[in-house]
Amino acid sequence: MISKRFLLVALAFATALLVTSEIVAARELASNNESAKWFKGVPVKNTVSGVWKKIDNVNKDLLKVNVNIHERLRCMVGNGKDVAFWTDSWLNGVPLCDSHSDIFKIAKNKKARVADNYCKVGSLLMWKWDWKRDPHRKEEWEEVGYVMKLLGEVSLSGKEDRWIWVNDDGVDFSVKKVRSEVNGNITTPSFDQLFFWNSWVIRKVSTFVWRACMDRIPTMEALCRRGVVVASTLCPSCGMVEETVDHLFAKCEVPKAIWWQICRWVKIPIPISFASVGEMLDFANENGGEGNMKKVIKLIFHATIWRIWLARNDKVFKGINTSCYKVVEEVKELSFLWISNRSRFNMAGWEMWKNFRFG
Ligand SMILES: [Zn+2]
Repeated sequence: MISKRFLLVALAFATALLVTSEIVAARELASNNESAKWFKGVPVKNTVSGVWKKIDNVNKDLLKVNVNIHERLRCMVGNGKDVAFWTDSWLNGVPLCDSHSDIFKIAKNKKARVADNYCKVGSLLMWKWDWKRDPHRKEEWEEVGYVMKLLGEVSLSGKEDRWIWVNDDGVDFSVKKVRSEVNGNITTPSFDQLFFWNSWVIRKVSTFVWRACMDRIPTMEALCRRGVVVASTLCPSCGMVEETVDHLFAKCEVPKAIWWQICRWVKIPIPISFASVGEMLDFANENGGEGNMKKVIKLIFHATIWRIWLARNDKVFKGINTSCYKVVEEVKELSFLWISNRSRFNMAGWEMWKNFRFG
């Protein structure tokens, strides 16, 4: 049985060899401070030094090379007593506090264990919510619906929780594998070179687009790859091809039509097709003009990716079909809203914006 603590310490050890010269000695485990602040799986108290603080530093170092401990350290839930409901990665490959930040904000007990949030009625699992205030915004209800859908597919063995380290080769953890992965990522170009954070885009959407570029969103294919049981891995739009990130946003006929209309609206060259989300952002960067206009075009690309995702969720979870035309109209509205609230860019009003004409 591999415990989370063992994996974290082994990981700290692996990284310590590489990133810092410190070696985390296993004996320090004994001094683990149980009362330290527990957040996102790593209890850190700024005033206390020790193994957990080192692990937290390791986390920061690993993030620089695109290895996210909170996502890679995944729990196969048995009874849920050892797993944090919101901050551990157990349900969809990403901690819920990251993938569903709107409802995380209103959750009363952010440290709740999975076991705190369900009860068994016969063989049925009943999930319980505990809010600071009831969800009332549309986004909040959408997130509740999405999580309920995922929870509906959970079955618990009742055994002890088991922790695994998720990597491309399988799930076996070894110090050597982490080292070679970190080494590999150091030599490839940093993703920040490709992706530029845009201050006019709301944080949740920036994070989502970044995740999409990194292939870290719960598409059907990704869920299946992470061991989640899904009815079908096929694209919900066309039903022809596996729903991968690149298919969902770029290669499927539906998003292709959307991108075509968006490019026509903002009067930039219309690409024949995109092969990936990264390629789209590159395209916006190269064809978006200069200065603020480039920022506007990139924002519109972010809004488009986001609306395609919401339309996809409406289809998957509510059976609602959204036309390409409607998605494009929503992109126009959403981008108008962000720019009016978050920038001083002069759009000369909604009528002009709808036709993308200024001055
Ligand atoms: Zn498709």
